[in-house]
Order: sequence, then structure tokens, then C-alpha cells
Amino acid sequence: MTDLTRIDVAELGRLLTAGEVSAVEVTRAHLDRIAAEDGRLGAYLHVEDDAAVTAATAVDEARARGDELRPLAGVPVALKDLVVTKDVPTTSGSKILEGWLPPYGATIATRLADAGTVLLGKTNMDEFAMGSSTENSAYGVTRNPWDLDRVPGGSSGGSSAAVAGHLAPWAIGTDTGGSIRQPAAVTGLVGHKPTYGSVSRYGLIAFSSSLDQAGPMARTVLDAALMHEVIGGHDHCDSTSIDAPLSGLVDAARAGASGDLRGLRVGVVRELGGDGHTDGYEPGVLARTREAVEVLAGLGAEVVEVSCPSFDLALPAYYLIAPSEASSNLARYEGVRFGLRAGDDGSHDLDDVMALTREQGFGPEVKRRIILGTYALSSGYYDAYYGQAQKVRTLITREFTAAFTDVDVLVSPTTPTVAFPIGTRVDDPIAMYAADLCTLPASLAGLPAISVPSGLSDGLPVGFQVMAPALADDRCYRVAAALEAAQDAARGHRLLDELPTPAGAA
Ligand code: GLN
Repeated sequence: MTDLTRIDVAELGRLLTAGEVSAVEVTRAHLDRIAAEDGRLGAYLHVEDDAAVTAATAVDEARARGDELRPLAGVPVALKDLVVTKDVPTTSGSKILEGWLPPYGATIATRLADAGTVLLGKTNMDEFAMGSSTENSAYGVTRNPWDLDRVPGGSSGGSSAAVAGHLAPWAIGTDTGGSIRQPAAVTGLVGHKPTYGSVSRYGLIAFSSSLDQAGPMARTVLDAALMHEVIGGHDHCDSTSIDAPLSGLVDAARAGASGDLRGLRVGVVRELGGDGHTDGYEPGVLARTREAVEVLAGLGAEVVEVSCPSFDLALPAYYLIAPSEASSNLARYEGVRFGLRAGDDGSHDLDDVMALTREQGFGPEVKRRIILGTYALSSGYYDAYYGQAQKVRTLITREFTAAFTDVDVLVSPTTPTVAFPIGTRVDDPIAMYAADLCTLPASLAGLPAISVPSGLSDGLPVGFQVMAPALADDRCYRVAAALEAAQDAARGHRLLDELPTPAGAA
């Protein structure tokens, strides 16, 4: 019998709707694979096991009764562990939230449940989403299914490893500076960061509120679009939620796959790996990017080079803005309301309990960011750091706006390098931060950006990034789908079929 963990979401939905497979069968296949493989991958922090089977059974019973079900009812899903789930452990990768059982669920978790999808579990991540490798998790490292000695990217590395390793058909990631796109890129997946405000942040544990967005991580562009349409759209519980309809994302993915890009204007960003800006970029990444651009041109797109000089400043600006907002957001973890409470033995006063809880509950990177952010916001330094960074943010936004008067989308590599070996950047924060070089500009401007595989370099996946104007997420899907279809056709198979480990199809 076919291995149900190898089937795309779009096809699973069809099989489930046609009654050719049951939700329980699909769910059990994934739970069995998690049990067999997650010991070495470390993708999950919590697996729902019996609860997942119960939820799947309910879907099958509803179908048997003849209830009208949504098209993806019965498809299993994994959530990054900063998506708050009612009565299901949610740690954000931090000791400080160990043991917390949320009293409510995030809007996106509720929307996925309302669509009939089945929660498999919660995936590992860098603590409070701060990192690019998932090595900053308080609960251990996650390994890249392509090479178990390498990182799966971060901070949504549990989600990327789970989906690439076929331990979930798709997963939710979140992206503040690149945490959907970068892990997707280095594991051979599709990852989309939606327009800021187009997917609800209600019930996402906040890192940097002006940047955080949740989005899909999937094995195909179409699957990513399908998930985006389930989770997206206005939510009155999130004050930054945009009240505008989603613009035909699944249709755009389907249209893109037909491969006609005539009339599309593509801008290649010089500052992101172009001439004179290749420091830190691996030759294989640059080669795959050039080839991807040639494929788009071959499909009829008109390609030009675009210069956005302020993009060079995205990294320093981000590493002031994000820690500043984090220092404020993380003040709520005081040992009283959530999870861990240290020093609660009657011999410490309240201030000591708070200090001890934070000392024991936060890891080194989180402490570094809180200190950095507090400093950048402190009186006398505010204008020089946070204020300057916000000005750079405005410049970057303006350069995007100017570029989009000439082109429809901007493209670049997603990351300067392929997945790096575990342990090689943990002691070098600047090298770690450099993983976000290409993803940060779209984050700071709040724009949609997708990462789609563009091939392999030394046997490891390379990601290609497509950025679009606000609320033009459909363009990202269209272009990504065109590239995916053309490359799959040229190769004769999917990139993920080249995955050497874990063992693959049973
Ligand atoms: N790697 C970046 C950071 O450490 C981005 C993280 C993210 O997008 N959550 O902040």
C-alpha cells in the first residue's frame, strides 16, 4: 500500500474527500513515522498521539454521517511551538514556559481545526524564535533530514525538519526576520511569509510584534497556498490585521504551474548576491539563483537588475528593532503568570523570584537580545539606535516602493549558504545573524516573500526568494509555482525525491 506520508496535501485532500483513505489511516501513518524517525530528527517537542487519532476519528465519523466537510478535513498538520494551543503544551522553545497549558487557542490554530485538519503536535524552534538554526531551543537540537549533522534552519527548524522528513505533510512556521523562508530553503521546502497583517497574530507568542507573521511550510507551492487560504484573512482579535480579502492564492499557484510568465517583470536585487555583493555567498547558491532567473526568463518573464542600496543596512536595523521589541514583549515572563517559577520556597521576596525565574528560564541568546534591546531603547541612546534603525526601515520600504514601480516581483537567493553543520555558528552570533541577510528587507517592509527550492549545491537544498508588494502574495505563489513546475519537469522528479535520509519511502 502507498506510504501515506509521501503524499502531498492537495492529493491527500482529494483521497480523503473521495473516501479512498480515512483520516485515521493518514494520521496513524504520520504518528508511526514520528515514532520511528523523530528520535534522530528531534522535530517535535510534543506529539498529540491519542488526541490526534481521536480528532481523526471524529472527521471519519462526520464523513460517514454524510456531514458536509471542508476539502482538507482529515489532513494532519504540525504547529510551531509558539502557536498557542488550548490545553496543549506551548513552550516557544523556552524553559520559562515549561508546563504551561494555554487556556485558549491562536486564531490560526482554531482556523486549521475548523477546517478539519488534525493536530499532530508542536515543533521545536529557537527559544522565542530567536535564531537561525534551532540550536537555541531549550529542548535540544533538531537535525536536517538531508544531513543529520547539519541544522534545519531556524527558528522554525522543527517545522522544516518535520515536513522535509515526511513527519508531517505541512506545518505552520513563523517569520520575524526569515524564520519561515530560511528553514524552508535549507531543507528543500516551500515557505511563505505573508504580507504583514494578513495572517492573524492572535495567540502567537510575540517576539517582535511589528515584524512577526505566521505562514505555511509545505512540500509544494500549491500546498503552501492551500494552507495560507485556511489561516489567512481578517481577525478582529488582532489589531494589526488587515481587513481585505485574500487574493486568489490557490488560483495563482495553479496558474503559475502552467508556466506562462509573459508580461511579468522580474527584478534581480543587486545588493542580495549580485555583482559586487557576493561576500559570504556560496558559489553554489549564486549559481542556482542565476539558473532560476534564467528559467523565469525562459518562461517569458522580462528580467532586469534592480539596485536597493539600503538593503545593506537591513541586518543592523533589524538587530536593533527586533531585540527592542523583544525586550518589551518578554517583560511579561515574571514567574507569576506562566510556566516556570524559581525560588518559590518562602525564602525569597517577589523581586528575587522574578530575577531567579528569568535567570533560570531564559537561555543565553534570549538574554542577549533583552539586554541589547533594553540598551537600544534606553534614554539617551534611543535616537542613536532604535530611532536610526526605524529611519533605515523607512528607507528600505521606500526602495521597495520605487522598485515596484518598474517590476512586479523582486528575486534573490533566500539564504547566502546551504545548511551549515550543527555547532559551527552557536558561539558566533554575527555569523548566525548573517543567515538572514536576504530575508530581512521584506520583513522590515512588511512585504510578502516566498522561498521555493532552486536545486542543490553539494547535495544540499538551495532556496530562491520571490518578494512582492503588500497584499500581492498571489504573485509570490504564481512565480514560485512556475519555477517549481519548470524545474520538476526538467529534472524529471521533485527535488525532495533526492532526500537521502531518513530512509524515505517504506
Ligand atoms: N534569525 C532571525 C533572528 O534570530 C530571525 C528569526 C525569526 O524570523 N523569528 O532574529
